[in-house]
Amino acid sequence: MSSLDQLPPLRDVVAKHGLDPKKSLGQNFLFDLNLTGKIARAAGPLKGVTVVEVGPGPGGLTRALLQEGAAHVIAVERDERCLAALAEIAEACPGRLTIVQGDATTTDLGALVAKHNSEKEPSAEGQSSNLPARIVANLPYNVGTVLLTQWLESDAWPPWFDRLTLMFQREVAERIVATPEQRADYGRLAILCGWRTQARILFDVPASAFTPPPKVTSSVVELVPRGTPLPCDRRALSQIAQAAFGQRRKMLRQSLKGLGKDPLALLDAAGLEPTRRAEEIDVAGFVRLAQALSS
Ligand code: SAM
Repeated sequence: MSSLDQLPPLRDVVAKHGLDPKKSLGQNFLFDLNLTGKIARAAGPLKGVTVVEVGPGPGGLTRALLQEGAAHVIAVERDERCLAALAEIAEACPGRLTIVQGDATTTDLGALVAKHNSEKEPSAEGQSSNLPARIVANLPYNVGTVLLTQWLESDAWPPWFDRLTLMFQREVAERIVATPEQRADYGRLAILCGWRTQARILFDVPASAFTPPPKVTSSVVELVPRGTPLPCDRRALSQIAQAAFGQRRKMLRQSLKGLGKDPLALLDAAGLEPTRRAEEIDVAGFVRLAQALSS
C-alpha cells in the first residue's frame, strides 16, 4: 500500500480544512476515487510524464495522477484554503508534487514546466532530460474556455504539452469537437481546436458525481496537438472566424465585410462560394480564408 492510499477520505479533508465549495471559483469537487482514477488513466500512460493540473482543489485528481505513476505533478490552485490539504499529498510522495498558488489564467504553465526541468537532477549521463508534459484538469467552468483558448493560441507550436485531458460542461465539449455537420455547436472554438489539435470526447460524467452537483452533465475531452497544423497566421484565422460566426446566419460575402479587404476577393482566393455561410465551411476553408487575409 502506498502512502497515498493512507491519506484520509476527501470528504474528511474538505471538512478538516473548511473547504466549503465556492461558486465564484467553480468549485465542484470529485470525491469518487474510481472516477478520478478513470480520468487519470484517460490521460495516461503517465509513467515518466510531468503533469500540470489546473485547480486541484482538495486534491482528488491530484492523488489519482500520482497513483497512476506521473513522474511529477505541478498543481496550480487559486484558492489558498486548499494549500494545506495539497501539502499533505506532497508529504505523502516526496519530490513528486509542486504546489503553485495562483490564477492559471495569468500563469505561464510552460514556464513552470521549464523551471521544473531545469531544477531536476541530471541523468546518469550528466544530461538533464526533459520529460513529456501534459495538462490534466477538472477545470473551473467559469474560466475553462478562456484557459483552453490561451493554451491553443500559443505562438510556439508544437506547444510544450503533448496532450490535454480536460473536463468541461458537456455543452462546451460539444462546441470543442463540432464540425459543420453539427451546425449549432460549430463556431470559433471548434475552428481553433480543429486547426491545432485532434479533439474527441472520451466520456461523460453525471452531475451527481460532483459535490456540489452542477446543473449539467460534464464530459472529459482529449486534445492532441497536431505537429504541423495547416499553415496560417493564428490572428488572421481568429479574425476571420470572429467575423464569420459573429453573423453566422448571413452569407460570407456580407459577414466578411469590415476586415479591410474585399470579401469577394477573399472568398475567390479561398475557392469558396460568396453565398456560403460560416457554419458550412470546414477548418481547411477557414485556413484558406486566413491565408488570403494575411497575404
Ligand atoms: N480538481 C478538483 C476536483 O476534481 O475535485 C477541483 C476541481 S473544481 C471544478 C475547480 C478548481 O479550480 C477549484 O479548486 C478552484 O478553486 C480552482 N480554480 C478556480 N479558478 C482558478 C484559476 N483561475 N486558477 C487556478 N485554479 C482555479
